[in-house]
Amino acid sequence: MSCSTVYFDHGATTFVRPEVLAKMLPYFGQSYGNASSVYSLAKISRYALTNARKTIAECINASEENEIFFTSGGTESDNWAIFGVTEAYKNKGNHIITTKIEHHAVLNTCEYLEKNGCDVTYLSVDKYGKIDLNELENAITDKTFLISIMFANNEIGTIQPVKEIGEIAHKHGILFHTDAVQAVGHIPVDVQSMNIDLLSMSAHKFNGPKGVGALYVKKGVKISNCFYGGAQEKNKRPGTENVPSIVGMAEALKTACDEMIYVNTNLTRMRDRIIKEIIQNIPDVILNGHPTDRLPGNVNLSFKYIEGESLLLALDLKNICASSGSACTSASLDPSHVLLAIGLPHEIAHGSLRITLGYENTDDDIDYLFSVLPEIVERLRNMSPLYNKERKE
Ligand SMILES: *Cc1c(COP(=O)(O)O)cnc(C)c1O
Repeated sequence: MSCSTVYFDHGATTFVRPEVLAKMLPYFGQSYGNASSVYSLAKISRYALTNARKTIAECINASEENEIFFTSGGTESDNWAIFGVTEAYKNKGNHIITTKIEHHAVLNTCEYLEKNGCDVTYLSVDKYGKIDLNELENAITDKTFLISIMFANNEIGTIQPVKEIGEIAHKHGILFHTDAVQAVGHIPVDVQSMNIDLLSMSAHKFNGPKGVGALYVKKGVKISNCFYGGAQEKNKRPGTENVPSIVGMAEALKTACDEMIYVNTNLTRMRDRIIKEIIQNIPDVILNGHPTDRLPGNVNLSFKYIEGESLLLALDLKNICASSGSACTSASLDPSHVLLAIGLPHEIAHGSLRITLGYENTDDDIDYLFSVLPEIVERLRNMSPLYNKERKE
């Protein structure tokens, strides 16, 4: 039926919108000036940077564009936020509160800090992947200087009560960082009304280019450098600015925010259609993550008696791109830490499929998935010793 690829892995990355690419191209070509230089060619780059900073600040309702610092992506923004604040506030304390379901860019940074004098509390989550606000407040000590909790989870799509988390943080005089890589450009993000002090974003998750992101740092929040070099980004993040990518990120974010209401109506409908029809038509399938407080494009299902990896390979043969767990864990054999944290037993966590939709997906894509999936699941289950054993019993 479908010969071209059906892409259902927008949580891993997205393509660059053609309009975005068109805006980037001049900065690779005729407008290649180094933004730090004095001549007119450089002014074009400086002007582009200022405009991009303004656009991005507006999209997350930052109070001024100087609160936006460009980075190489979500991973760098997360590392910088946590390391930079830990260093700048070392006289205040050494205790960080985060969760068990963070992206590895946060988890592994915290683990490193634990080996170097910090105490870290990893909050657990309920079966839907939500933290408990009382547990959060009870974890606070007089040494706590930072709460780092993701806005929306990349695997199961669950959205956290961000505004309430920020309220608790500020009530206790603690900074709040959120890894909003899955949220920015996808659901409404307002750093002021949501009490956010530091926020990480990444362009390639909202149809911008890879290798560029930003860290929002609220005015007045102190942050130490991770890198040392030139005076770029107000001496905070040196290195010649990646002007084409920064321009692309701003353009992609503006478009995503302008189209968000319209796109999300459609994504939510398609998401719920996939969940409902698969659970209705294929036995022994469960939904992971929150039924409603989840990213509009996120579906995460566990198929009992099946290896997620085999499912992905079978789907790939039908030209369908999907994921099991996250892109970062799919190279390892351990089941996803997120699925274990919501209480799934190992064997069910291993059988998970993540489908993440983007604005270009259509009902035809979903029909095509439905036309191949039941057969694949049936075939893989027939090969499973556990499945045959339980069927005989
Ligand atoms: C993709 C992702 C990251 C990493 O962003 P990169 O730009 O790929 O480094 C961090 N956190 C979350 C939640 C993500 O989904």
